[in-house]
Amino acid sequence: MRSHLILLLAVLPGLAVAQRQQSSASGAASITTADVRRRINIIADDSMLGRATPSPQLDAVAAYVAGEFRRFGLKPGGDSGTYLQHYPLEVLRFDPESAAIQIAGPAPGTWRSGQDVLLVDGQPPAGTVTASAVVVTGSAQTSDTLDSSAVTGKVVFLAYGPGVNAVASKVLPLRPLAVILVAGFPDSIWQTLPGHKVSERVRNPSEGGGVTTPAVFVVRSATAGALFSQGGVNPDSLRAWGDRSLSAHPLAGVSLRLDVHEQLLQHASAPNTIGILEGSDPVLKKEYVLFTAHMDHIGTPAAGEGCVASGADSICNGADDDGSGTVAVIELAQAFASARGRPKRSLVFMTVSGEERGLWGSAYFADHPTVPLADVVADLNSDMVGRNSKDTVAVIGREHSNLGTTLDSVAAAHRELNIKPVGDLWPQEGLYFRSDHYNFARKGVPILFFTTGLHPDYHKVSDSADKIDAEKEARFARLVYHLGLAVANASQRPQWNPKSYKQIVGAEN
Ligand SMILES: [Zn+2]
Repeated sequence: MRSHLILLLAVLPGLAVAQRQQSSASGAASITTADVRRRINIIADDSMLGRATPSPQLDAVAAYVAGEFRRFGLKPGGDSGTYLQHYPLEVLRFDPESAAIQIAGPAPGTWRSGQDVLLVDGQPPAGTVTASAVVVTGSAQTSDTLDSSAVTGKVVFLAYGPGVNAVASKVLPLRPLAVILVAGFPDSIWQTLPGHKVSERVRNPSEGGGVTTPAVFVVRSATAGALFSQGGVNPDSLRAWGDRSLSAHPLAGVSLRLDVHEQLLQHASAPNTIGILEGSDPVLKKEYVLFTAHMDHIGTPAAGEGCVASGADSICNGADDDGSGTVAVIELAQAFASARGRPKRSLVFMTVSGEERGLWGSAYFADHPTVPLADVVADLNSDMVGRNSKDTVAVIGREHSNLGTTLDSVAAAHRELNIKPVGDLWPQEGLYFRSDHYNFARKGVPILFFTTGLHPDYHKVSDSADKIDAEKEARFARLVYHLGLAVANASQRPQWNPKSYKQIVGAEN
């Protein structure tokens, strides 16, 4: 357990400054329920078609945010004097008929794409690639024995089922060549999975330096069974992870040849929108507090991002995910820009895209930052912040730096907001790895990730604007305003918990 004493000492000077700077706190009043409601209705309107990456509607939202940043008087923080940073994408045509997985070893065979195996997500390796195979299972060890030597560049088999997200969030950062989910789906479900037909896919050629989303295939349990028994892995052990740690079992003598051919149809791009408010202190203004959210969502079924129609409704509006965070960032920009007096450090407001496809926009910014990343002292990320209980927000990553302690002090000083920051309510979901802050954390930027959490409308057509609690979201945004002010005015920049730094940043560098 960490020492509260040391953390408090690091935080106190910042709070003293924040209390002296009464004038800057005046900005919070500009964040209103009516404003939040109005902007959610714009961003999550049906005309935005769910803001898939890339799409003209995503570009329209990026232009709307840029227009607001200009109106508030922010400095452009994008490419060549604009508010937009574009990253390149490729649209590819995938033909399942020409794809297959060849298995060499004790139980040789061919899994035909579209019949035996489906490519459901991620980025397949181009052309023909051969790799060895490992199975990741639960283990009786006290800690995970997974490491990059066991997983990187290999084909990893995982059982599909409850808890698979948390397991995948540990496996994917280790960069396997591909993940094959072993699933016992009945035919009725199998037929509804993506990957049966010729389809267009969007690829991010910059991916690789950032968080990669390797190809994710699904194979039927019955098809994969022989392979496991020949490799000496009991198929029943696959699902036995529960709360247990993970270990990787190589399938001895087995190699898999992936044959995936795609054709480049066209080049495209997607935007991040970036505005900067310069700080007031001649020295500290060279440091930045970053506020982020993602403006993209999963579009319509045609976008191939997982939106499924329900009756006549085929638009996944993404009002909460992450229209709500996008609105929070706009509200924060307006609040800071309209306040009397500016904080000492500079502030960067950024709405990214491609989050739903694999944190693409934030990864691109982290690799091509328009302000020096070493001078970004914190990222405060909001993803899904407009739902659930009236008076709480979950704060992910609060244990990894003293930002969590700063937040508690700020919340205690602003009890009138009636927003209680609580810890991760969904630890099995691996949320720390599932939004844009992760791309900054892994590069050494302390982060807090705010979310009011999952709900039954998550990634459904029913995540619509009428369900957003705009009054709560306004109070939440005011809390982030006061936190941002405290961080921007503190004499010291936020400090990592050293153990967390080693785990999260040390693993990358
Ligand atoms: Zn989402």
